[in-house]
Amino acid sequence: MQVYISGKFFDKENAKISVFDHGLLYGDGVFEGMRAYNGKVFRLREHMIRLGNSARALMIDIPIPLEEMEAAVYETLNVNNIKNGYIRLLVTRGIGTLGLDAHLCSDPQVVIIAAHLAMYPAELYEKGLDIVTASTVRTNPAMVSPQIKSMNYLNNVLAKIEGHLAGCAEVLMLNTKGEVAECSGDNIFIISKGKLHTPPPEAGILEGITRQTVIDIALDMGIPVRELPMTRYDIFAADECFLTGSGAELIPVVKLDGRIIGDGKPGAMTKKLLDRFHEETKK
Ligand code: PMP
Repeated sequence: MQVYISGKFFDKENAKISVFDHGLLYGDGVFEGMRAYNGKVFRLREHMIRLGNSARALMIDIPIPLEEMEAAVYETLNVNNIKNGYIRLLVTRGIGTLGLDAHLCSDPQVVIIAAHLAMYPAELYEKGLDIVTASTVRTNPAMVSPQIKSMNYLNNVLAKIEGHLAGCAEVLMLNTKGEVAECSGDNIFIISKGKLHTPPPEAGILEGITRQTVIDIALDMGIPVRELPMTRYDIFAADECFLTGSGAELIPVVKLDGRIIGDGKPGAMTKKLLDRFHEETKK
């Protein structure tokens, strides 16, 4: 495996950045997770825009222009001979002192890793996920906005640990108001009476690029979409539930906190949306 670091490629073993980089010292950086389908990076521009917005919000200067960054993503795929895979791109704040001062940091590092990755085992797409609600809540937007895809994912990591302890592959996270936000690494949707419903950005979520793609597909299919606050009750009472993410695509959820959702099987509308999503990835 060849890893891109700020303009050069290194073998996996030698792909290293400084221990004085604030990315390591403080989780001070931004990242993206993308998918390549048949040699094309899905929604690359949208990922770059989100990366740029995250970096702007944190006042991190992305050291290379957008077009160069996009070219570096493709170069990393090519060097590794990957046509279908997952790409992790990060931009760190760069090397600084042991203090917090961001203005003393210089030389932000761009890291691009391309790999084959299965976010969830294939059988879970057939059976659907059984998930639980974590006691760790999603970051309050009044703190660091969850719209910033920062390298500081500690509360999501803690929530995921809770899910693992409960034997679940994913975990639901609420916001500080007790409303449904999203899962540790995926957005959530329900289908009730033929309508699609997902929490709005104000609920404190990452605005997923897969989430937006699914909203666009649904609208195109004539399915009404509501971006409104959601409670766990809405999920318990839903006909169908599924999660979205670049890694996961669309994965059905059949149980939350011991309550069976719908008839306990992946729903027909979820399958239809997944089929349409797959078509989208082929364009
Ligand atoms: N929410 C969180 C917290 C995430 O980390 C991710 C990405 N893994 C998503 C949602 C899904 O976003 P996207 O569809 O852009 O991958």
